[in-house]
Amino acid sequence: MENDSFVLLFFIDGLGMGTRGPHNPLDGLPNAEPLAIFQNEEPHLPFGGVLATTDARLAVEGRPQSASGQTTILTGINAAAAIGYHKQGFPNAPLLDIIREHSIFVQLKRAGVEPIIFANTYTNRFFETRPRWISATTAAVEAAGLRFNTVDDLKAGRAVYFDFTNALLIERGEQVDLRTPEEAGDVLARIVAGNRFTLYEYFITDKLGHAQEMNAARIVLQNLARMIRRALERIDLKCTTVILTSDHGNIEDLSTRSHTLNPVPTIVWGHDCREIAARIHSLTDITPAIVDVLTKGAVDGQSGQADSARATF
Ligand SMILES: [Zn+2]
Repeated sequence: MENDSFVLLFFIDGLGMGTRGPHNPLDGLPNAEPLAIFQNEEPHLPFGGVLATTDARLAVEGRPQSASGQTTILTGINAAAAIGYHKQGFPNAPLLDIIREHSIFVQLKRAGVEPIIFANTYTNRFFETRPRWISATTAAVEAAGLRFNTVDDLKAGRAVYFDFTNALLIERGEQVDLRTPEEAGDVLARIVAGNRFTLYEYFITDKLGHAQEMNAARIVLQNLARMIRRALERIDLKCTTVILTSDHGNIEDLSTRSHTLNPVPTIVWGHDCREIAARIHSLTDITPAIVDVLTKGAVDGQSGQADSARATF
């Protein structure tokens, strides 16, 4: 069976579905589609996106945190339940074990789905003085034996920095050009077109949520929305599924420096978006949905034609 589908997983750290009010930088923010999503409101989603309100609390007491939430997104395993609590920051040994065995990269490799890529860029500093603590994504890339993108890849238009404008990269002394959000969206769309599965990670949202910086948050969210809209414009949504999701709320409520208990928005665009959105209820549902799209795919190769006849997942 021919499968010619593609998937982009666009992961945003710390973006929940909040309420409207002065605490929420998305309230009243112009040109913030598709990120301006509020509880109990029908969202305006460009490019036919479908919202799946997604539980990030994972039936475990306390505020959702990054290490356990990201491990859950990247594996489909409820990592918070597995270790009994929400783990902050970087994954510990038990979470790293889960990532090594079950990450989406490993699952896709085992299924023969290739090429697959983490679109983010790593600077030389990462390779020279390897940090003691690494993110869930870095651990997943490493454990699956994927190549890390370097600044040279970025210069050649094959990678995107976590700050996709490159401003922070230039601040760190790298000789690279600034990118507009649209230019970054173009680069990401090209990466997506060349890989069966692409992961991109953005986490400045979480940092600004902790810092409670309203003005910076509004600027960053607007730029991020521009980058996403351009990528969606350039990606072939007939054969590609784009899934945007987050590990927990944070930036949508700047009245607190903590993560929130809000659900997170998962937004699905493109190929089979309605069916995929319908099966996503919690962070555990992301990876299984992606693996199914990339390993099962269109029934007869006529993408879209078989959708309504297809059994639910
Ligand atoms: Zn955080």
